[in-house]
Amino acid sequence: MFRMKILISNDDGYLAPGIVALAEALSAVAEITVVAPDSNRSGASNALTLDRPLSVYRADNGFYFVNGTPTDCVHIALTAIMKDKPDLIVSGINQGQNMGDDTLYSGTVAAATEGYLFGIPSIAFSQVDKAWTCLDSAARIAREIILRGFPSLDQPFLLNVNIPNIPYEKIKGIHSTRLGKRHTSEAVIRAQDPHGRDIYWIGPPGAAKDAGEGTDFYTTSRDYVSVTPLQVDLTNARQMQQLIADLS
Ligand code: MN
Repeated sequence: MFRMKILISNDDGYLAPGIVALAEALSAVAEITVVAPDSNRSGASNALTLDRPLSVYRADNGFYFVNGTPTDCVHIALTAIMKDKPDLIVSGINQGQNMGDDTLYSGTVAAATEGYLFGIPSIAFSQVDKAWTCLDSAARIAREIILRGFPSLDQPFLLNVNIPNIPYEKIKGIHSTRLGKRHTSEAVIRAQDPHGRDIYWIGPPGAAKDAGEGTDFYTTSRDYVSVTPLQVDLTNARQMQQLIADLS
């Protein structure tokens, strides 16, 4: 019988409850390999570590962990650790939402993007709230979404999934969405170190600005799971035409 091979990564680190729950939910239906950062690398985006070598370690539960970024993990998994190419790459379940502009900063989305750039269908999973509540519900939803297979989508696909932190029975359904948009980030937090020098903590992301119908924000706020298909090409096609005029 065909058994799907799935590579699992995240940005919260290999010990995070979200990746443990995801691995547990998927091990019943697939042959899984887990390769994740050794520590929390949330906000790492698509960074590759190029200024030092990377090491791979193996935990007692079989998870591999790397002293690098989420993108490093998927890159090394595909090029050095796994004998066969996986059928699917999944990332998460992240502690907290990756909606709208978050997708550009997210290490969770980045791990999936790295798989997608290697030509493998990839899905990023995040819980809307950070409290790790109803994680069993999110893991069950993630498994259901994976088992759908998405035969209508072009291969490879890149999906960004956000799951409300509510019990499984309370989830109203799963909707295809577009990314919303956030306001500018909240102010940086300035403090002083013991030597009297100014130090800065990056502030939290801004509130939702475009949370209109059809967005990830709108959908999850109404107790639906949001699935947004992503692409990597950042070209602004409309401005490309305008630019022709300005450059002629
Ligand atoms: Mn994270």
